Amino acid sequence: MSPRSIPPLTYKVVAECSVTKARAGLMTLRHSEVNTPVFMPVGTQGTLKGILPDQLIELNCQILLGNTYHLGLRPGIETLKLAGGLHKFMGWPRAILTDSGGFQMVSLLQLAEIDEHGVNFRSPFDNSQCMLTPEHSIQIQNAIGADIMMQLDDVVKTTTTGPRVEEAMERTIRWVDRCIEAHARDDDQSLFPIVQGGLEVPLRQRCVSALMERQVRGFAVGGLSGGESKHDFWRMVDVCTGYLPRDKPRYLMGVGFAADLVVCVALGIDMFDCVFPTRTARFGCALVDSGQLNLKQPKYKMDMEPIDKDCDCSTCKRYTRSYLHHIATNESVSCSLLSIHNVAYQLRLMRIMREAIQKDEFPHFVREFMKRHFQSDPIPAWIREALAAVNIQLPADQEKKDELEEAPKAERKQEPTKSMTQPAATS
Ligand SMILES: [Zn+2]
Repeated sequence: MSPRSIPPLTYKVVAECSVTKARAGLMTLRHSEVNTPVFMPVGTQGTLKGILPDQLIELNCQILLGNTYHLGLRPGIETLKLAGGLHKFMGWPRAILTDSGGFQMVSLLQLAEIDEHGVNFRSPFDNSQCMLTPEHSIQIQNAIGADIMMQLDDVVKTTTTGPRVEEAMERTIRWVDRCIEAHARDDDQSLFPIVQGGLEVPLRQRCVSALMERQVRGFAVGGLSGGESKHDFWRMVDVCTGYLPRDKPRYLMGVGFAADLVVCVALGIDMFDCVFPTRTARFGCALVDSGQLNLKQPKYKMDMEPIDKDCDCSTCKRYTRSYLHHIATNESVSCSLLSIHNVAYQLRLMRIMREAIQKDEFPHFVREFMKRHFQSDPIPAWIREALAAVNIQLPADQEKKDELEEAPKAERKQEPTKSMTQPAATS
């Protein structure tokens, strides 16, 4: 639709927190504008399990994620081309981001083998030998037509150590050049490279600086949230955002727990995706600020409250916890009703964070959120450390209740904007 002269992705920082590294931005894509920070629900097979595109629009979802590995196998490139791309095929008019397919392959298929050429695997459908190369991943993603595509990267388990981590990082840099070369629709689609480098600061730094030499419109941070310690997790996020350029969007792959979202927004991440909200809905669980309500539990049988009285999703407007308990996991519509609420929860959390950043009240929001989220448990040490690295001190657990009422601005005066640009993890 848009004239070809306009780049397929523009990003503008709208507001920055004066205390942390959090920022609010506006990303303009061919199919929609996206307010960041943003959570992207995952529509694996060209469908979000249990939610229709119209319902997502009602929730004001601006962008969702599709999986290249699944879509490349079924329906496949020819069907997608014939349909005119995934937007038309699935009836979704707004923005789409696709992954490269590499992560799925390595995580789902035990027989995947990686060499310089690409990823070798056996098709789960007919057991034939297949190879996903950087070029082939881009061909599939060009046929899907997503607004944002990911490079194929060399994925290692987050717990891998030793020379394999460096090899994978260097190969990821070589592969991004092959992806850029193969990309046939740069006027319509933006290709993000992926920062790898395991849990080693120098490797992450080397990867970021090599990728920044390429002409790209945004960056993904990969290889995290896969079983590493939370301490390593936040440090690597902090290192990456410390070195990535300010004027381009930053996408942290595979992160979706509420507390992680809040911490990583504070560390300067703009985009997230995760299957968790829709997956947990299938197990009868609803997301709330204090964690999750497992609606299968008998205590909800006589509970005539909505899941969350502050939520304005269609599920909370119409149904009680009692009703949802009654149908949870027995009736397929319960998955749909809970998925709608859970996606609404994630989107609302991002919207509230964005508004707090714009009002420069983000640190206050973070403290209030952590108080609600950890009502009965102590706040984990890694969250305290991560937030302290961006100048938010959480009160000790026993003093939590007394101190939290004392407001946002006080702390800001005690701690003028120190180290906003310095990656704390180098210390
Ligand atoms: Zn709701």
